[in-house]
Amino acid sequence: MIALAKKKCATKWCRNRARAGRCYCHKCRTRAWRERHPQRKQYHILKWSAKLRKIPFLLTYEEFGLFCDLTGYLENVGNSGASWTVDRRDDTLGYFLDNLQILTNSQNVRKGNTFRANAKNRKFRAPGVNTQTSGKTQNG
Ligand SMILES: [Zn+2]
Repeated sequence: MIALAKKKCATKWCRNRARAGRCYCHKCRTRAWRERHPQRKQYHILKWSAKLRKIPFLLTYEEFGLFCDLTGYLENVGNSGASWTVDRRDDTLGYFLDNLQILTNSQNVRKGNTFRANAKNRKFRAPGVNTQTSGKTQNG
């Protein structure tokens, strides 16, 4: 019996190896999947970043879909200052449908800065925010 040898990924310039019996490597397959499922992709990004920051994430995929349909979030998402982000209205609470709103990236950064400045002045410590190392970005 001949074992299926790993071969080069079929994407141009990609130097990874494809799994046996497949044409594309894992990285290229994931990229193609994200391209085909933009809403799933954004949901995963949101959920993953919430997990990293230990923020409760109670949003289901269906609710996220509703949110995208109502706001048109997917058309305006990106990395520039004017592109949109999902913001939590109340920063001390997690992600659930009633706590979400659209802000631009720059508005969200400004909101985070005011939140941290107020927290410092009032000696108020929000859950999950360490005031001694407050240089890090906590807001999403
Ligand atoms: Zn590849």
